[in-house]
Amino acid sequence: CGIFGVVGVTDAANFVALGLHALQHRGQEAGGIVSHDPVEGFNSARRFGYVRDNFTSQTLMKTLPGPLAIGHVRYSTAGSKGAAIRDVQPFFGEFSMGGAAIAHNGNITNADALRRELIERGSIFQSSSDSECIIHLMARSLQQNIPERMEDALRRVEGAFSVVAMTRTKLIGVRDPLGVRPLVLGKVGDGWCLSSETCALDIIGAEYVREIEPGEMVVISAAKGVESVRPFRPRPSKFCIFEHVYFSRPDSIIGGRSVYETRRQIGVELAKESPVEADLVCPVPDSGTPAAIGFAAESGIPFGLGITRNQYMGRTFIEPTEQIRNMGVRLKLNVNRALVQGKRVILVDDSVVRGTTSRKIKEMILDAGAAEVHFRIASPPTAWPCFYGVDTPQREKLLAATMSEEEMREHLAVDSLKFISLDGLYRAVGATEGRKADCPQYCDACFSGEYPVAPTDMIAKGFQL
Ligand code: 5GP
Ligand code: SF4
Ligand code: MG
Repeated sequence: CGIFGVVGVTDAANFVALGLHALQHRGQEAGGIVSHDPVEGFNSARRFGYVRDNFTSQTLMKTLPGPLAIGHVRYSTAGSKGAAIRDVQPFFGEFSMGGAAIAHNGNITNADALRRELIERGSIFQSSSDSECIIHLMARSLQQNIPERMEDALRRVEGAFSVVAMTRTKLIGVRDPLGVRPLVLGKVGDGWCLSSETCALDIIGAEYVREIEPGEMVVISAAKGVESVRPFRPRPSKFCIFEHVYFSRPDSIIGGRSVYETRRQIGVELAKESPVEADLVCPVPDSGTPAAIGFAAESGIPFGLGITRNQYMGRTFIEPTEQIRNMGVRLKLNVNRALVQGKRVILVDDSVVRGTTSRKIKEMILDAGAAEVHFRIASPPTAWPCFYGVDTPQREKLLAATMSEEEMREHLAVDSLKFISLDGLYRAVGATEGRKADCPQYCDACFSGEYPVAPTDMIAKGFQL
């Protein structure tokens, strides 16, 4: 998901709409905005579909006045898939000291356990979302102000959470102690903003200030500026390495590094680790493009756009049903025959999850007359599900969970298939020594099976580590 918030500007909701538009790649199912105005109070709008199709209407935006607003774009990883407007964030709660709204990116790994406990004690849930627990935990806290209630609530929550929240006067941002999901602070005019990624600061002309640190909470008001609190015990951070590979936009900056440059570097590492003789390096657009550029540069093999992407399709992976995903590949990608005919083609993609994309693309490339197909993948084999906010399927559906690299090659029926090594990936993100075996610098659980936070609910459901 993508989250964004602004305080201290006129018509904050317009800024939030723009920010969410720039974060649309993080969630395309639905979006929501909550605003507050001293006279009009809290207002909200939640809609299915793209930001540009909903939050551009002047009639709608006029209902969201005020100098303070937050928003969310949704990609369902927890809770019910598909249509339920009650699952669309931000969530809102009314407390004795006033209202508060929250928008959450990540996944709470003990949400089922918390929900059971809260329901037994009288909470009435409105949605099926894991994020709603936070509001109910806040309602049960005895603290006298909302930021402290939020600290109380988040100390009970396990897993990955970047949160943007608001009260009548304050904008609040928090990252979980491991800092799994991103969150950055920006300055816009006399006001401040919080965003999942820096690409959304650019769109509103905000200046990047810094990242919210893992385990940090910032409480921001027009009157007092930014105050920083540390609600959690410090722990080594575990930022999601897959944000670098796929999830973030390439024009964002993470930890001082350009995401594009990291992806290009992954391609360089891949070409060094797994070279192959061929005539053309071709990205699977868009997610494979920077790595393919790096691969071509390092190998000296010409780069070409052998596959064209229909710009009017969203990200296939985050369409929630398998059926739509299956069709999606052909709706989204088509081969440029004239370019690939008779050639030995290296296809570069960011990941192989179920293998649906790679299988279809291989067929399309061969149908178009390619002589050989070699896959080079910009992440290690995805052998484990993510429980921290990326919607990987159950373990059984992951190709790499049950097959060796050679078996996957046979299954996809390609001439060769190679993945970047975990160490190669770490080098590409700037860890020159590679992955620290005893305490990896990032979360890489979907590749390594080493989960930095025990997935409590999943273990209760029988998931085996
Ligand atoms: P597959 O078709 O193998 O199931 O999925 C791989 C494709 O899904 C890749 O092209 C990749 O770009 C895309 N993808 C989109 N979102 C995600 C995600 O959240 N996780 C992973 N691993 N791949 C994703
Ligand atoms: Fe990111 Fe993978 Fe960890 Fe999930 S399991 S947070 S996708 S690195
Ligand atoms: Mg892709």
